[in-house]
Amino acid sequence: KNHFQILVVGGGNGGISVAARLLNHDSKLDIGIIEPSDKHYYQPAWTLVGGGAYDIKKTVRDQADCIPEKAHWIKDRVVTFEPDQNALTCADSGRITYDYLVVAPGIQLDWGKIKGLRENLGQFGVCSNYTFASAPYTWQTLRSIKRPVKAIFTAPNTPVKCGGAPQKIMYLAADYLKKQGLLSKSEVHFYSGGGVIFGVKKYADVLNQVVANYGIHTHFNHNLTEIDGRNQMAFFETRDQDGEIRQVVQKFDMLHVTPPQSAPDFIKNSPLAVIGNPLGWVDLDKDTLQHNRFRNVFGLGDAGSTPNSKTGAAIRKQAPVLVKNLLALMQGQALGQVYTGYGSCPLVTGYGKLVLAEFDYNNNPMETFPFNQAKERHSMWLLKTKVLPWLYWNKILKGTA
Ligand code: FAD
Repeated sequence: KNHFQILVVGGGNGGISVAARLLNHDSKLDIGIIEPSDKHYYQPAWTLVGGGAYDIKKTVRDQADCIPEKAHWIKDRVVTFEPDQNALTCADSGRITYDYLVVAPGIQLDWGKIKGLRENLGQFGVCSNYTFASAPYTWQTLRSIKRPVKAIFTAPNTPVKCGGAPQKIMYLAADYLKKQGLLSKSEVHFYSGGGVIFGVKKYADVLNQVVANYGIHTHFNHNLTEIDGRNQMAFFETRDQDGEIRQVVQKFDMLHVTPPQSAPDFIKNSPLAVIGNPLGWVDLDKDTLQHNRFRNVFGLGDAGSTPNSKTGAAIRKQAPVLVKNLLALMQGQALGQVYTGYGSCPLVTGYGKLVLAEFDYNNNPMETFPFNQAKERHSMWLLKTKVLPWLYWNKILKGTA
């Protein structure tokens, strides 16, 4: 079969949520999902895996059990798009045409942009929670610490999936060191390519307090450029007040890296990308999630240009908007649904405590619960560790939440 009424690119959080919702609405829709991976991952729990608070095996399921039964799974990867011909090309299956296209291929981790990162990841204390393969090594490194250490946590200057993840693992690590009686003699550093701890003031205030309580040293506008694993040295670049680039070198015992990120190359190099933006996001209308130039194309999730925080939580609000607008277009009606930019970040601040940040495009808080969410709470930790994983597998991927 080489034509579908609706073709979905990517069977991750966004692609499956949309396909399931469409089929819940009308099980006769002819939907193809192009997804190369045998496995489906619940990525938000990798932070907990890195902190030794979640079993990595519970973060993966067979993709075959996640793809909606009534959708057609094309186990392949897209290589090029011809949106003016309503067609795309896959590596093995060749050219496939569609009436409508939904683009949700996730974000690309640009490991190669930091010299020495790929080679050293998983040894010499160089960790990253950003993949299924590497997240367990973060915990292995942390739990083997028996003396005061220098632990460094980095965030790049690009958008990343889950903007809070680079610091959540830092708070878990600091709390772990505290519980071992090692924190006061250890050094914990946060090197970030960004300019502030968090974009929403209400939550930044509480995070600055958390940082101060653990005695963490913060360094903003610093980008990790190189790692020398064998000598456990990290190299950063920052700009002086006079605009000169200055290099900073730090020894480390543990280095947790959040790699720079961008849209996948096959999106960047396609007509679907925002013109003139090197990060190459899918060019979407931020309200309707329709492509800005190709009217029968929609998109959501981490690869989209919408300026929300790139999280699964955002997808939970994007999917119903996209589905209603796509169905409206199919029926020749106006697109009536608007995505407000909702994003959420469950900011783990230590073992058993969490600040649940929720906000919109304008960084205005959009809170779910009838209490002040800018407070560390045990109930929100239970939400993250127990409720949200259940919700993901049983409701979000089924298109019912
Ligand atoms: P993904 O779920 O990544 O899916 C993209 C899919 O596209 C993949 O299955 C991939 O195989 C497929 N694909 C790739 N290339 C191709 C191709 N060429 N052709 C076809 N298909 C392709 N979110 C939260 O809400 N809360 C959190 O606490 C949180 N914490 C996080 C912590 C970490 C460490 C990480 C890594 C992520 C976290 N997230 C969190 C973010 C969340 O996981 C993502 O925002 C979400 O998975 C994005 O969904 P997506 O569908 O856009 O991409």
